[in-house]
Amino acid sequence: MASHNPRRANSAMRNKLRARVLREETHCWLCGLLVDKTLPHGLPGSPEIDEIIPVSKGGSPFERSNCRLAHRLCNAKRGNKPPGHAKVLALQPPKPLKTSRRW
Ligand SMILES: [Zn+2]
Repeated sequence: MASHNPRRANSAMRNKLRARVLREETHCWLCGLLVDKTLPHGLPGSPEIDEIIPVSKGGSPFERSNCRLAHRLCNAKRGNKPPGHAKVLALQPPKPLKTSRRW
């Protein structure tokens, strides 16, 4: 167990990045569904920032390229495991919703 938590060491930097991810992303990178950013903190669907490479594996919690938007529940379920199918999602930008055009 690591006793040093870089996330706590520089929370101002982390908050700034968190705000940026929330501003730039709309969908959970783990399940691909929309994240409701109006939800208060602590709910299963609440927006959270997930590190692609976990901090415990050497990833940076302050690098924009290592941080993606995720549901709290998805983030918790993933833990420190490799993202698996989510890796595919990480490589492509979120798809816009399909419109039902009939012609
Ligand atoms: Zn999700």
